[in-house]
Amino acid sequence: MSSPIRPICVKCQKEYKVEKQGVTTELMTTFSGKPASFKLYDSDLWECPVCGHQIIGGFGQRPFAQHFEENYEEILKKVGETYKCY
Ligand SMILES: [Zn+2]
Repeated sequence: MSSPIRPICVKCQKEYKVEKQGVTTELMTTFSGKPASFKLYDSDLWECPVCGHQIIGGFGQRPFAQHFEENYEEILKKVGETYKCY
């Protein structure tokens, strides 16, 4: 269960609002010294209504795709734009 309130902007003392629901976060890793895609999570883009600072939160409990799965590259292509986390 997620918390009934969203994260709070410390500077503005306001709850972040959901700017965009259902964005994809791409967890990155390093394979042989090179950055590589690792896991995909459903997530939300949050924005402070006052200062406009953006964060990603609201992650699903589990990744919906992982690098070792056969169709991972296919899913990654289908998803299109992702928010990367290195
Ligand atoms: Zn703010």
